[in-house]
Amino acid sequence: MIDSIRAKKSLGQNFLKDPLYLCKIADAAQVCPDDQVLEIGPGLGHLTGVLAKRARRVLALELDTRLIPVLEREFSGQDHVAIVHADALEYPYAALTGKWKAVANLPYYISTPIIQLLIDHCDKFSTLTLLLQKEVARRIASPPGSKEYGFLSVLVQLSAEPRIEFMVPAGAFTPVPKVDSAVVTLRLREHPAACKTDKAFLISMLKAVFSQRRKTLRNGLKPLAIPPDRLDAVPGQTGIDLSRRAETLSVEEFCALADFLREQQTA
Ligand code: SAM
Repeated sequence: MIDSIRAKKSLGQNFLKDPLYLCKIADAAQVCPDDQVLEIGPGLGHLTGVLAKRARRVLALELDTRLIPVLEREFSGQDHVAIVHADALEYPYAALTGKWKAVANLPYYISTPIIQLLIDHCDKFSTLTLLLQKEVARRIASPPGSKEYGFLSVLVQLSAEPRIEFMVPAGAFTPVPKVDSAVVTLRLREHPAACKTDKAFLISMLKAVFSQRRKTLRNGLKPLAIPPDRLDAVPGQTGIDLSRRAETLSVEEFCALADFLREQQTA
């Protein structure tokens, strides 16, 4: 159909057409006839077509103006498919009604901010099934203590249970990217790990402690300017030894640490 359109590198366009992988993605997302599915970046519409056959409703957000008329033509007469010209980083997800499943072969250059955004609207989504750069998928799904566990792992695991579904080789895409990919499903928790403190503080703390992974927590926390005597109280109050490294802390321990430090900052 639209194969004459040249892929734009600047928009992360690596198209996936192989019906086997497209079906595997829809299977991993467990798309059912009752589902509302949000697709980010429908591209040439191959995955959209598979989703449209299985779901009650598909909302597809595409930034590339060249693709909009072609997608509209492709899905004309399918009233349950809406093609919307929008930047997925700016879309008002809060206005979505009911529960949705997000399914996307994400543009890799913005995969992390998109994941953050979707997780920030976790009341709107039951699952996110995302085709990501393999390394990003591994980071998201890594448990504490592993070398890939970091900022993104904690941020995601606070709100979701991640699972790597399967790998997709670079050769399956057109044009062929430089990296291999993986499909990950994030099942959003009904009750996200409880942090009393605001998310902005938690994020600044995570960025500080993971920015230099080899440092102890005590050194990593320096940018937060917590008075030393208050840091001394951390082990007694939270059970967390500040000579540990960030990568050894569980999500629950990060919450406890953020809650305590935030109180110290505002005390
Ligand atoms: N879903 C198609 C597929 O699997 O072949 C295309 C995937 S391609 C990796 C990423 C798609 O996201 C492209 O169509 C690109 O134009 C679109 N895109 C890039 N940035 C976007 C943004 N900020 N908002 C919405 N779509 C975007």
